[in-house]
Parts: sequence; C-alpha cells; structure tokens
Amino acid sequence: MRKDRKNYWHLLLFLELIEILTKFADINVNLKNNTVMKKQTMPVDGKFELMALPYAPDALAPVISADTIGFHHGKHLLAYVNNLNALLPESEFEGKALEEIVLKAEGGMLNNAGQILNHNLYFAQFMAPKADNAPTGRLAQAIDEAFGSFEAFKEAFAKAGATLFGSGWAWLSADADGKLVITQEPNAANPVQRGLDPLMTMDVWEHAYYLDYQNRRPDHLAALWNIIDWDVVASRYE
Ligand code: MN
Repeated sequence: MRKDRKNYWHLLLFLELIEILTKFADINVNLKNNTVMKKQTMPVDGKFELMALPYAPDALAPVISADTIGFHHGKHLLAYVNNLNALLPESEFEGKALEEIVLKAEGGMLNNAGQILNHNLYFAQFMAPKADNAPTGRLAQAIDEAFGSFEAFKEAFAKAGATLFGSGWAWLSADADGKLVITQEPNAANPVQRGLDPLMTMDVWEHAYYLDYQNRRPDHLAALWNIIDWDVVASRYE
C-alpha cells in the first residue's frame, strides 16, 4: 500500500514534469514561428520610452552630424513616443507590444507606433564610420545568394532608397525561409506588416538628412554604408 502511494506520487511528479516540458517546447515553437514576437518591445508602466542611443550624438559624424541626431532622435522620435503614449490610455492597445500595435492598429496609433519601431531599429544599427565596412558570415552569404554580391546589393538598396517617392524607408528584411529581400515602405510602414523580419533600414524622410545633405538624398544614402553596424544587423538575422 505504501509503496503504491509512493509510486503514485512519482507518477504525478513525472506527469507534471512532462507538462512543463511540453509547455516550454510549445512556447519555443511559437517564438520560432513568429519572428515578430521574438523582438517585441513592451511599454514600461503603460508607456513607451525614448530609446537610448548606443553611441555619443557626434559619433556618426561626418556621415550624420550631432545636429541631425539631436533633431532626429531628440525631437522627431521623441514626438512619436509622446504622441503614442497620449493615444494609448484606455485604448485596446494599452500594455501591448509595439509590433502588435503596428500589426493591428490604424490611423494615428499605427503611424506613431510604426515610426517608433522604425526609428528604434534605425538608430540601433549604426556605429562610428569605418572604411571598407561590410557584413561577414552567414549574413554576407545570404546577401550574395539573394543579390549576387555585396556591391550589387548596395546598388539595389540605394536605388530603392533614391526612387522612393516622398517620405518612407528602404529595408533589408528576411522572409520566413531566411531569404533576403529589399522593400520600399511608405511613410510609417514596417516590413512586419508583410510578414517579413526587418534587418536593416535607411530613413528617407527629409528630416533624416536635410541639415547635412539638403536635397542630396542619394549622397546621404551612399555615406550611410560606412556607419552600418553589421554585427547588429547579423544579430537580427539569427
Ligand atoms: Mn526619421
């Protein structure tokens, strides 16, 4: 009798353990299948925060001046953060991840959330200028496979940025199979809305370059290759 009871408890413990492991496996499968949710950005106490720059404001000069960073990060991005935080209370998106808002919201809610997601990815991908800057490893290989060579990729990407009419973003993204694609997204749109995983971007809104390059958008885009932190981009492709 006592032995039976002991076995019974062992069995319960064993079943519990199986359940925990199964749940854990399910969560992992969901995360793996939903790359968007892997990178979700959650609000803190119901509010989104202005992202901290991982470099000094003058670190990207002369490609992007401290003045441009001051306006672009300190004023434009801050305004999107403040606007979204003002719209969230008592909406269905209160407490939701940025990506979820971008996938489901409309109007001002979508535009401000989209611009925060876009700029967070944009500002985090830069480093001080470096000559002969290029990706390595698996990402470099995927770029060669999709576009022929790094040079051909840069040409195609620059064309996407230069020919985007009005305000928007040129993006390098990965599809569900890991294949790389370049897209043009108007205004505040983000590749997550197409089911893509955004890796690298160039902001072609005039506020991103006008102080330093005035109307010379292609010159600005060409200079950006020197400050792309390919380690950050590669980490988004894992
Ligand atoms: Mn911008």
